[in-house]
Amino acid sequence: MPRVCTVCSSPHRAEIDEAVTRGESFRRVAPRYGVSDRALRRHAAEHVPTAIVKAHEAAEVARADDLLSILREAVADARRLRAKAEKDGDFRGAIMAVKALSDVVETLASIGERLAKAEASRPPEPKPNLTDGELAAAIESLLSVAAAREGGTNVH
Ligand SMILES: [Zn+2]
Repeated sequence: MPRVCTVCSSPHRAEIDEAVTRGESFRRVAPRYGVSDRALRRHAAEHVPTAIVKAHEAAEVARADDLLSILREAVADARRLRAKAEKDGDFRGAIMAVKALSDVVETLASIGERLAKAEASRPPEPKPNLTDGELAAAIESLLSVAAAREGGTNVH
């Protein structure tokens, strides 16, 4: 069946294209003009000139970089929380810190994917690197502390 682009047929098409060109996120632009996120993505991919979409992708990558620095702070916070929880003998707090760290790792993984995709279409640059090994070591050390503590409380 023929597919009508709701963005092309929107009375706001010019504004929408302009917003996309400026690098605004699809998620923000779509609801503002009453079109679906998916329709907007398709429109951007198929109906907006390539140069414009490239500019948009570059902006998306820049946002991902921003997000990465926020996540670095989140990791630092989680580590601080973990250190405090350990010091206070707060087992639940420590577990929550581990959970928070693992959430950050998941988010980082998805950002990494997006960056990798964007990078495939532009010259290579040094990749942002949030020391995964360091993070893993931190989680491991916490787990061993938690295990030791649990063992200690369950003496028969
Ligand atoms: Zn369209």
